[in-house]
Amino acid sequence: MDLAEWDQRHRDAFYSVKEALPYLEGVFVAYNSNIDAIKHLNEEDLAKLLELFEAAEIQEKISAYPREIKEPLDFLARLMISMRDGKAAEVPTYTAETHEWLKGHLGFDYARMGGQAGIIANLLVHLGLKKVVAYVPWLSEEQAGYFAPSESLLHPKVEGGKVFLKHPLEAYKPGIDSKVNWILEYSKDLDVSCGGNTFKVPRDNRLIISSRPKWLRLDMDKEIYEQLDSLGHVDGAILSGYQMIKEEYEDGTTYEDYVAKSVRAIEKLKSLNPELRIHVELTSIQNRVIRKAILEEIVAGHVHSLGLDTVEVANALNVLGHEELSYAVIRKGENGIMALYQGAVQLLEDLALERVHVHCLGFYICALAKGHPLTLKEHRDSLLFASSLAATQALEGKIETLDEAEAGLEVPVSEKGLEDLENFKLYCVGRKLCSPDEFEYGYIYGVKHDAVIVPSKVVSKPRATVGIGDAISAGAFVAMLAKMKQKWAGK
Ligand code: ADP
Repeated sequence: MDLAEWDQRHRDAFYSVKEALPYLEGVFVAYNSNIDAIKHLNEEDLAKLLELFEAAEIQEKISAYPREIKEPLDFLARLMISMRDGKAAEVPTYTAETHEWLKGHLGFDYARMGGQAGIIANLLVHLGLKKVVAYVPWLSEEQAGYFAPSESLLHPKVEGGKVFLKHPLEAYKPGIDSKVNWILEYSKDLDVSCGGNTFKVPRDNRLIISSRPKWLRLDMDKEIYEQLDSLGHVDGAILSGYQMIKEEYEDGTTYEDYVAKSVRAIEKLKSLNPELRIHVELTSIQNRVIRKAILEEIVAGHVHSLGLDTVEVANALNVLGHEELSYAVIRKGENGIMALYQGAVQLLEDLALERVHVHCLGFYICALAKGHPLTLKEHRDSLLFASSLAATQALEGKIETLDEAEAGLEVPVSEKGLEDLENFKLYCVGRKLCSPDEFEYGYIYGVKHDAVIVPSKVVSKPRATVGIGDAISAGAFVAMLAKMKQKWAGK
């Protein structure tokens, strides 16, 4: 595969999607937004934290692998694991004490919009979409202030039993608390020493402590659900935050209640516009019951598109009964990319989806059901557009306008990604999944499905790592929607 050629394809794709975006009328984005408190950890911060506990008790907690932060030691153990492996992780906490402890013992550098729906809504507005309707069931006044100050950004507001669309700053629910998550970023090569254990952090990454206050419910206000047509025309919906659903609530309701409500909301959205496409963005879901319910009950048969990273592919396959494939994805190694491709196809089939988009560092895979209105070239353009957005997000830490997103075009395509794909080519050609020529274009034409595989741009020293995955998934999905609208308009 030729690096210069893929750079040029990125450039062409960017301008081609830029031309298509104005065809979009509106996008609906729900459910999760929060305030992120960000702290970049240095050696001093770590030393201070580690001093607070005995090395032996930290080690013991690391072995116990806490899946929830109940006390500060749980936090420190998960931080050490995340840094040791250089792997991102998201761990929930149900107690406000964690927030207080972190504020007191660590503090944060700055705060900003967090949560997939919040991040995506702002990104789409910055890309110049005419109408982005966000919906966050727990929109507090403080949270509303983190939404882009633009007339294109709207949120439903119930007034006198009727639903109106207003900017979040005029649509928040008075008197409710904000959800604050902690993002602890760390850099490659940081030296960590805990008792006799010392290691160097292998990769830039971060640990997220996500707050799950007791009052949090993944639900749509009754009036808004009943008057969903007040959203006006929307071409697509990007839904996320389902990981917040709990197995049981103190009021006796269970996850089944919220799963059923989620499905009803999706079906109602689809009834508004038969062409509407729905994308679900997955993130790590620790609880297997919830993970399975989200996949089998909310996603399967109800939505069109799924976006996820490698770890989430493995986790999804695992609860769907494909343990071996799941381990092959996690183990990576020589067969990792083959497993990832097979995994994406398996998810496409099991969940009856139109599209499964997997993003990795250096390349993206998008498995596609047969019969999609777009060509593989148009799908490829959507992925390459997303790769340029990711590069800008990594380079600048933000994307304020579509023109600014051009900065990502200067970032080179990942050589490592290209190398990984060269190995994958041998597998695909060997199995007659495609000819060597088709692979050079990034196309795989299967019997039951197709796929597009592209190398992506990678920033060697990223300014920030949060929100890149969201930019990739949302960017590719709206690019696809825009291309569809452009096509239907006969342009
Ligand atoms: P998040 O949700 O925080 O964005 P994900 O794991 O979902 O995290 O997504 C991370 C994705 O971002 C990776 O799969 C990779 O494609 C992309 N990415 C990470 N670091 C870089 C970088 N330095 N340059 C370009 N893309 C990156």
